[in-house]
Amino acid sequence: MPIRLTNTLTGREEPFQPRHDPVRLYVCGMTPKFHPHVGHARLFVAIDVIRRYLEYRGYRLKHVQNFTDVDDKIIARANQEGMDPREVARRYSESYFIAMDALNVRRADLYPTVTDFMPQIIRAVQELIDSGHAYVVDGDVYYDVSTKPDYGKLSGRTTEEGQLVGARKELEPGKRDPRDFALWKAAKPGEPAWESPWGPGRPGWHIECSTMSRETLGDQLDMHAGGWDLVFPHHENEIAQSEALTGKEPFAFVWTHIGLVTVGGEKMAHSLGNFTTVAEVLKQHEPMALRLYLITTHYRSPLAFNEESLIAAGRGLARLRAALEGSVPDPAAVEPAWAQQARARFEEAMDDDFNTSGALGHLFDLAREINRRRDSGEDMGQVRGAQQTLRSLAEILGLRLEPAAESGATRDIAPFVELVLDARQTLRSAKLYREADRLRAELRALGIVVEDTPTGSTWRRARPGE
Ligand SMILES: [Zn+2]
Repeated sequence: MPIRLTNTLTGREEPFQPRHDPVRLYVCGMTPKFHPHVGHARLFVAIDVIRRYLEYRGYRLKHVQNFTDVDDKIIARANQEGMDPREVARRYSESYFIAMDALNVRRADLYPTVTDFMPQIIRAVQELIDSGHAYVVDGDVYYDVSTKPDYGKLSGRTTEEGQLVGARKELEPGKRDPRDFALWKAAKPGEPAWESPWGPGRPGWHIECSTMSRETLGDQLDMHAGGWDLVFPHHENEIAQSEALTGKEPFAFVWTHIGLVTVGGEKMAHSLGNFTTVAEVLKQHEPMALRLYLITTHYRSPLAFNEESLIAAGRGLARLRAALEGSVPDPAAVEPAWAQQARARFEEAMDDDFNTSGALGHLFDLAREINRRRDSGEDMGQVRGAQQTLRSLAEILGLRLEPAAESGATRDIAPFVELVLDARQTLRSAKLYREADRLRAELRALGIVVEDTPTGSTWRRARPGE
């Protein structure tokens, strides 16, 4: 039985039939303008689970995920913090890796950035002009949507809400049609700019992904993934550009969209200020508890962020761990029939559009069965085999069941570090900056890195060699 998954492009659940080996997976990554929040964690954990399961089922993958390191919001953050935009992007890209490493999200094969691909992006814009799909207006370049009759096939939409279109049109007076979108934006004073045949400026967001995916993976992708909020206009515009550039359809055979994390019914977003960073969550909860919480809901559904469910996930994690208590990994252990059945049910759930909540249910059933048989003193060889099954199935979901020494240690010191940071804040409020700096340096000597942000100070452990 092939894996079945929902394709946003067709609106249906379909058998997964990749055209390439390795499977070409492109993911729209982060705009590194601040520390990653729970919404980012959900997106990248969900994609990590999909990737792990495809690999478990024998596929090889090439996973490319970009960083949008040139962006209005990065420039705004740089101005706010008195930093260079490149430094902002570097700093928060680093923060992304720290958070995702903690959540056991495996790294992509490649992380292209806009600044690294500028000549290729400029060439793609020129090709679209040359082929009649784009036009130049006073240093700006727009994609001409009227040249793509099937525009809107992913989202079923062709325009943004009326209000937005109106606002955009005023900002972009040269546009022939409100649906047209920018491929290149003429430089504004005080912003980073690159030389181009149309004058200094920077690329539009959509052409960046079309270019980076083509340069790193090829003309057509097996799977293109991202958050639900990217369906329109970002992914719709990627399709229009890429298909115009290559003449090949579809640009991506499968479109996979991950549901958003919501707070009070609104999406969690840096721009709305309603976010909780991954680092903040990890001060109170184990990384694996957050990961378990995030995959309890199906990846396509919205997830309302709440503390109680996060605590419940921590208890669930403890239940899974209890079933492994006193056992050590034993790859030679033979899987008994009852554990084979659990594995088959787990696979059945995952084959059905990566139904992680169903798969987790089977993991909990298996853990209960292990406990029952162990407590009643049944054949310990079978119990060990089933414990090995539990370990390997949890690993497919990226759940580390062996308690991690590092995360335990971090949890233990958290109250003490917080206490020192509180004291430092008091010193800063009293303008005793030299004493405050001394505390920061002392913490650094102890391997704790303190970062000051507009919303307060955060801390993390220094990495080896840092
Ligand atoms: Zn993208």
